[in-house]
Amino acid sequence: MNNQNFHMSPEEFRKQGKLMIDWIADYYENIEKYPVLSQVQPGDIKTNLPQSAPTESEPMEQIMADVNTILMPGITHWQSPNFFAYFPANASGPSILGDLLSSGLGVQGMLWATSPACTELETRVLDWLAEILQLPEKFKSTSTGGAVIQDTASSAALSAVLAARERKTNFKTNDSGNPGNLVAYVSSQTHSSVEKAVKIAGIGKDNLRQIGVNENLAMRADLLEEAIKNDLQTGLIPFFVCATVGSTSTNAIDPLNEIGQICEKYQLWMHIDAAMSGTAAICPEYRHILNGVELADSFSFNPHKWMFTNFDCNCFFIADRSVLIKTLSILPEYLKNQATESGAVIDYRDWHIQLGRRFRSLKLWFVIRHYGVNGLRYHIQEHIRIAQQFAEWVRTSAEFDLVAPAPLNLVCFAHQKGNDFNKKLLETINGTGKMYFTHSVINGKYVLRMCIGQTNTKEEHVSDAWKTIQKTANELIISE
Ligand SMILES: *Cc1c(COP(=O)(O)O)cnc(C)c1O
Repeated sequence: MNNQNFHMSPEEFRKQGKLMIDWIADYYENIEKYPVLSQVQPGDIKTNLPQSAPTESEPMEQIMADVNTILMPGITHWQSPNFFAYFPANASGPSILGDLLSSGLGVQGMLWATSPACTELETRVLDWLAEILQLPEKFKSTSTGGAVIQDTASSAALSAVLAARERKTNFKTNDSGNPGNLVAYVSSQTHSSVEKAVKIAGIGKDNLRQIGVNENLAMRADLLEEAIKNDLQTGLIPFFVCATVGSTSTNAIDPLNEIGQICEKYQLWMHIDAAMSGTAAICPEYRHILNGVELADSFSFNPHKWMFTNFDCNCFFIADRSVLIKTLSILPEYLKNQATESGAVIDYRDWHIQLGRRFRSLKLWFVIRHYGVNGLRYHIQEHIRIAQQFAEWVRTSAEFDLVAPAPLNLVCFAHQKGNDFNKKLLETINGTGKMYFTHSVINGKYVLRMCIGQTNTKEEHVSDAWKTIQKTANELIISE
C-alpha cells in the first residue's frame, strides 16, 4: 500500500523511479540474452493476466515482478543489436530520458498558450533539422512553410493528402464533401499507409493509380505522366503524387526531380515519404537521395526509425503552411485565446489530425544535443558501411544473390535454392531467437531483408548474422 489517498507520494516515486532506470539499464546490458523475436504463442500472455482488474492497490514490486515473468517473454526486442527485421525503431539513452521528462511535465501542447515552450522548442528543432537535411528555405518556419512533429509517417501522409485535396478544390471539399473525381498516384512499391490515407480522405481506392516501376523498383516517371494524361482525358482531376525515398520493401528511391517536374506541369501536390531513409540525408555524402526535394509540397521522415529517437516521432515538413492550416483549422469557442487571435503564434493543433499533442520535441532535442550532428552522422555512416559490407559478402557468395540494389542500410538477398527454401531458412533462423529477419516478395521472388539501424548494431553482429545465415542454409541442405 502506498499512502492513504492511494496516490504515489514523491518519496515513493523517487524510489521507484530510480529502480525503473536501473531496470532499463540492466535490460540494455543484457538485451542480447533474450530471444530477439518473442517465441510465445497467441494467447500465452493473456492467459497469465487476471480476467478482472484488481480491486485493491498492488505494490509496485509485484507489478514489476509480473513485468519480468509474464510480459518479458512476450516482448520482441526491437532494441536488440540483432534485430534486422522490418525497419529499425531505434531508441537511445537521451531519447528515453527526454520522453520521461515529457511524461513528467505531462504537458498537452495543443495550443501555443497551453505551453509556449512545447510549441517553440518544436519549431526551433524542426528548423534545425531542415538545415541539417539541407531542405529548401520554403520548408522552414521563417519562410512560407514549417514543420510539425506527428506520431507517424501514416498520419503525415494523410495530412498531405487532405491539404492537397483542399488546395485542388479551392477548400470546397471540407464544406461540401468529396467531388469523387480526384485522382492520386503512387508506385507499386509505395507504403500501404498512402493507400490508407487516400481511403480515409474519401478519394476512394478506385481513384488511386499504382504506377509501374523500373528494374530498380523506382517509380517510372514516363508511366506517371501517361497515367495523368489518361485521367485528364476522361475528365478526372489528378491532384496528388507520393514519391518514396527508401521504399519499405527494398529501399528503392523514386526519381524526385522527374516526378517533381511532372507535378509542377500538371499542378499536382508532391509528397515525399522518406520514413526511414530520410535520415541518411543528414550525411553530406548521402544528401543526394533528396535531390529534387525543392520541387515537393511536403516531405516527411521518422526520427523514430533511424535517428535514435524513441517511437513515436515523425517530422512532417510543408512548403506552404497556410494550406495545411486552412485545411485542418477549427476554432470552437472553448479554444479561443488572445495569443491565437493575435496571429503571432503557432497552434500546432491546426497542423495535424488530432487536437491534443505530447511534448515530443523534447526527446528529439535531447538526441540532437547529446549526439551533435557529427555524432548522428557517425552512426548513420557506420550503419551504411556495415550494410554495404554485408551486401558485398552476399554479392561474392556462391549460394546467395542480391535481389535489389542496396543503396543504404537495407539489403535484400536470397539463397539460390528458391522460394520455399528461403522461407524455411528465414523461419529456422528466427526460431533460434538469435536474430530476427523479415521478408519481402520481389517480382515473385521470396527474399530475406537485412535492415541495419538499431542503435547498438555493430559490424560483429552483422558478421555473426552472415555466418549464421550460411551455416543454417548448409544444415537445411544436408537435412533435405
Ligand atoms: C515505415 C514506413 C512507413 C510507415 O511508418 P509509420 O510511421 O509507422 O506510419 C511509411 N513509409 C515508409 C517508406 C516506411 O518505411
